[in-house]
Amino acid sequence: MEYFLNPKLLKEIRKYGKFDVKGCYNCGTCPVMCNLSKDFASFPRRPIQYALLGSKEHILKSIESFLCHDCGDCSIACPREAEPRLSMATLRRYLIAKYDFTKIASKILSSKVAGILSYFIVAILSFFLIFLYHYFNVKLSPSEFFPTSMPVEHILPEGGFRILYGYTLFVVLFPILILLIGVVRMGYFTMKGEKVTFGSYIVALYELIINLFTQKEMIKCEKTESKVRYVFHLMMALGCLLMLVIVLFLLNWKINTNPVQRILGYLATFGMLVGSGYVLIARMIKAGGEIYKESEWQDYALPVLLFLISLSGIFVHIFRNFENLEMLTHYINAFHVAVVTSFLLIELPFGKLAHLIYRPFAIYFYKVKEISLRGR
Ligand code: SF4
Ligand code: SF4
Repeated sequence: MEYFLNPKLLKEIRKYGKFDVKGCYNCGTCPVMCNLSKDFASFPRRPIQYALLGSKEHILKSIESFLCHDCGDCSIACPREAEPRLSMATLRRYLIAKYDFTKIASKILSSKVAGILSYFIVAILSFFLIFLYHYFNVKLSPSEFFPTSMPVEHILPEGGFRILYGYTLFVVLFPILILLIGVVRMGYFTMKGEKVTFGSYIVALYELIINLFTQKEMIKCEKTESKVRYVFHLMMALGCLLMLVIVLFLLNWKINTNPVQRILGYLATFGMLVGSGYVLIARMIKAGGEIYKESEWQDYALPVLLFLISLSGIFVHIFRNFENLEMLTHYINAFHVAVVTSFLLIELPFGKLAHLIYRPFAIYFYKVKEISLRGR
C-alpha cells in the first residue's frame, strides 16, 4: 500500500496549538508511562511519529489522541521535554477540525482571533434576535425598547412558547447534527480498509454507551489530581446533560415551574457552576500539577462559557422575584440566552468541547478493531 508523505503536515498541525516534537528521538518512554496506552493503541509516541513523518493518512486514521486524557505523565517522563501531553491535545483539535465538513472548526480552532470573534458574533446575533422578538411579538418599538420595564411573564405570551421552543430546538439540534456527521467522518477515516466484523460493531456498543455517560477512562490515570479532576468534569458533563433533558423534555415553559423540574434544575446548575468554576480556577492558578501547567486559549472557552451560563441563570432565577429588578432581570436573561447560544452553536460542535462526543466514539472504534482482531 502506498502512502504519500506531506512535508507541510507539521506546519498544518501546529496551527492548532503546541506541537513541539522535533526533539523526540522515539525512545518509547511515553507509551510505557501512559496508563491508557496499549499494544494495539500505542500513544503518544506513535501519532507523534506519524506527524514527524508527514503521513496525513495515518494521522487521520489514528484515534489515539482521543484516548489520551491529558494527565501529563508522559510529559513528566519525556527525556527530551517534548511535551507529548500538549501534542496530543493539539492533535485532538486538528482532528476535530478535520471531522467537521463545514470547515468552521478549522477556522475557530486554528486562530485565536477568529475563535474568540465567533463566540461574540453569535452572541450579538442572539441579542438581535431578542430585539426582533420584542419588536414583532411583544410589539415594542425601538424607542420603547430600552426604557420600558415589563413583568418577566411577557417572555411567554400567547405564541411565545412556539417561538422559544423552536429556537431552543434549533440551537440544540444543530450541534447534534454537526457532531453526528463528524462521528461518521471519524468512523470513515478510522475504519477505512480495516477487516472488522459486523458483530464487533454491536458487541462494542456497551463501551460507547458507558463512556458517553461516564468518561470513565479518565480515572485510569492514577494520580490524585486526575481523580479530583474527573469528579469535577463529571459534575460539569452530567449537569449539562441534565439541563438538556430538562429543557427539551421536562420544561413546562411557565415562569412558575413545578417542584421536580425546579430541583432537577438546581442540581444541573450546581454541577455546571461548581465543575466549570473548579476547571477555570485550576487552569488560572495552574493547580493539579502537570494537568493544568500549560493551557491554550481554547481550553478556557468551555469553563468560561459554562460558568457565565450558570451564574446568569441563577441571577435571573433570583431577580425575577423582585418587581423593582424587572429591567435588570431582562438584561441578564438576554445575556444568558446569548451565552447559551454561543455555547451550543460554536463551542459544542466546533470548539474543544466536541471531544466530549468524539472521545467515546474513538474508544468505540478502537474496541471494534480490538474485538475483531482477537476473533481472528
Ligand atoms: S518520551 Fe519523549 S522523546 Fe521519548 S518517544 Fe516520547 S515524546 Fe519522544
Ligand atoms: S497525557 Fe496522560 S493519558 Fe495522555 S498520553 Fe500522556 S500519559 Fe497518556
